[in-house]
Amino acid sequence: MAPLVLSVRPSTPSGRVRIEGNSGASGSCRFCATPAKPQEPSSFLDADGACAYCQLVRRLDRPSIDNEAVLIWLPELTQAALIALVRECHARLRHCGVQHLTERGSTAVLHGSVPIEAREALAAIAAFRSRIAEVEARLGSSSPKALAQAMSRLNGKVYADRARRLHGVRLMPLGHP
Ligand SMILES: [Zn+2]
Repeated sequence: MAPLVLSVRPSTPSGRVRIEGNSGASGSCRFCATPAKPQEPSSFLDADGACAYCQLVRRLDRPSIDNEAVLIWLPELTQAALIALVRECHARLRHCGVQHLTERGSTAVLHGSVPIEAREALAAIAAFRSRIAEVEARLGSSSPKALAQAMSRLNGKVYADRARRLHGVRLMPLGHP
């Protein structure tokens, strides 16, 4: 897999290189290895071979990023592993027809009529959301937009070292890009 680093500009400019057999609706994401599936819009690949969730990580400067994702502190998991887990959670919630509960997190887990597979997904999302406070303590914000603005002011050398400097900071897609 290609490295998946929080970025405000892709290292491979879009359109310059087309990844043969890995763009469009077929193949797998180059960054998280998710296979593109017609029934799963978040798995669709862009010209760089990135799925919709990995595109968020690579373009923190998207205008709507704060509605699409939040920063959390999660050094235990790689960005690609977090995306794979979050995608599975969102797929389960959609499968159970309760994707609207995503935002409510742990309080919805107590709701007895929610199927067990959806409750597990909600519990996992709530656990990830509980790491927002830690990233706020460390960075001063959990807003991807704020991080993008800070990153765009960095000089090239510091920006190139962002993966090490941001160790533990992950982007959690919210499931409604
Ligand atoms: Zn991906």
